[in-house]
This record gives sequence, structure tokens and C-alpha cells, in this order.
Amino acid sequence: MAPIRLAIVGLGKIARDQHIPAIAATEGIELAAVASRNAALDGVAHFATLDDLLADSADIDAVALCTPPQVRRAQAEAALAAGKHVLLEKPPGATVSELGPLVAAAEASGRTLFATWHSRFAPAVEPARTFLAERAIRSVIIEWKEDVRVWHPGQEWIWEPGGLGVFDPAINALSILTQILPRPVFVTKAHLAFPTNRDAPIAAELGLSDVAGIPIRAELDFLQTGPQTWDIRIETEAGQIVLSSGGARLVHDGAVLVDEKEAEYRGIYARFVELVRGGRSDVDLAPLALVADAFLLGRRSIAEPFEY
Ligand code: NAP
Repeated sequence: MAPIRLAIVGLGKIARDQHIPAIAATEGIELAAVASRNAALDGVAHFATLDDLLADSADIDAVALCTPPQVRRAQAEAALAAGKHVLLEKPPGATVSELGPLVAAAEASGRTLFATWHSRFAPAVEPARTFLAERAIRSVIIEWKEDVRVWHPGQEWIWEPGGLGVFDPAINALSILTQILPRPVFVTKAHLAFPTNRDAPIAAELGLSDVAGIPIRAELDFLQTGPQTWDIRIETEAGQIVLSSGGARLVHDGAVLVDEKEAEYRGIYARFVELVRGGRSDVDLAPLALVADAFLLGRRSIAEPFEY
């Protein structure tokens, strides 16, 4: 079967760091073009914009939208209308409600829409889900603290409305949480700190729960220098499990169960190939809905101005 011919749209940090090597390492898909206003790849067809690509794209089957979330809905709509399969980086959009029409458009055109959550492909996530499926959970603490200057250097879009601020990385924790807990979770309280000169939060604290009343707390910070923290600690009737390094490592009462190099994006592309071949879509909005609810429910405070 011929490989899926894919175009990357928005050749920025994540496209270079993760998408390009993962596509090269995945059977059944190949990088055929790039659409990016200010960047190109040697040896790969280049278009300045998605519209230019779609106007001349008979040999392109799919697009991976690696642009900021604020522009992705219009791009996904155009790509689906042109008959392309669409892979969305996380978060899948700037709002929850904009995704419904995209799901309908994918269904109507018989194309795949894949809202990716890369952290769900981390190696310790499935073992954690299996562990928790059989044990009563007592409490959950999430600590997601990273240095925005390292991971999002100079990115202004992240501070604009729809850019999510500290929730841009923290939504990865929520994507893991909603994958490994046995029941749906909801936000019970939130506190968001906004720099005086920015429209998105730089730190937050969340309370969440589920119908069984499990207390879940999340501490999020975008200014952590030194060692970075992407941990979820869960107390259960059978002791404590700790998912750390963003889901690459799992420890149960001090015993290491999983400690693997992450290959999240290879998992994403293998799944995309499977979805396209099977004529299916995969769009789970639960993590984005939790972020939206944190913004709805959150108390706000003012933080120091932020500059890169
Ligand atoms: P980025 O470095 O800013 O790259 C995004 C690219 O999209 C830019 O280089 C730009 O390329 C293009 N773009 C920017 N604004 C645009 C606009 N208004 N219209 C059209 N194209 C525009 O951002 P990134 O870090 O790669 O993040 C992109 C997405 O990946 C985000 O949703 C983020 O949450 C997700 N992600 C990021 C990371 C990470 O560690 N950075 C990790 C996982 C997922 P041109 O100027 O060349 O068009």
C-alpha cells in the first residue's frame, strides 16, 4: 500500500524536534511537503501558506497542523474541505466549541481528524492506567512546572488569548489524568495568576474530583528553572504510584516499573496511519474542556510582568 503523503504546516519548534524524526521513523507515512511562511526544509516541497499548498496539492493526502492553536480551526476546515486527512497538534483548538463542526466535516468528507495528545503515548501511561483500573484511588497530586524560556523561547502566541499560557504544557498532564483515571474528572476550583502585561496565566492551582470524590490537586508553574517537574503522584489502597518525566517513568512504592526513553510522536504517527487506513477519526476534548472550565471557574490574581 502506498504511504500516506503528509505535509507539515507550521515548521516551528515541535515540528522540527518531534514531527520530522517521528514521520521518518514510521512505516506507511512520508513527509511530502512543508507549508510555513518563514521556514523550509532542504529537499522537501515548500509552500508559504496552507492555501498555496491546497491550491497545488493533488499528491498530498494529509496535513499535520503544527501551528499555534488560534489559527488551527480555519486551517483544519480548509484542509478537510480540500479532501485531506488532518492531524492536530495539542491543544486541538483555541476553544472547545470550534471542534464540533470540524468533527462533522471530517465525517461528511470521509476523512480522518486526529486530535493528538502526545503525552498519552508516553511509555508509562498505559501501565499506570492498568494499575489504577484495579485499585481504589485515594488522592492525586499533579506538579507540572517548567521553564517557558527553555521550552517556548520567544513564543508570543502562547501569551495571547487562546494561547493558554501555563496550560499549554499543563494540558499534557490533564491528557494523562483523563486517560489513566477510571472515571471522568471535573474541575472544582481554580486560581490563575496572570502577568500584568499578558492575556494568559503564568501559574495556576487547580482542584478537581470525580463522582467518587477523589481529591485531585494540580500545581502549575511556567517559571521553574533548574530541574523541571512533570509528575503525577497517586495514592491508592495498594500504595503510591508516581508517574514522572511527563509519563516516561513509573514507580510503585519505590520500585521502578517503567523507565523508558520517550517515543511519543512515533506512537502518534503509527496511530494516525491506523486511523487513516481504517477510515476513522479520534477527537477527545476532555483535556481541553478541563482547561476551559478552569478559566470559567478560576479566581484571578495579578503576577509580575513577563518578558522573554
Ligand atoms: P512555534 O515554534 O511557534 O511554531 C509554530 C509555527 O507555526 C511557527 O514557526 C510559524 O511558522 C507558524 N505560525 C505561527 N503563527 C502563525 C500564524 N498566525 N499563522 C500561521 N502560521 C503561524 O510553536 P511550537 O512550540 O512548535 O508549538 C506549536 C504547537 O505544538 C502548539 O500548539 C504547542 O502546544 C504544541 N507543542 C509544542 C511543544 C513544545 O515543546 N514547544 C511540545 C508539544 C506540543 P512560520 O512563521 O514559518 O509560518
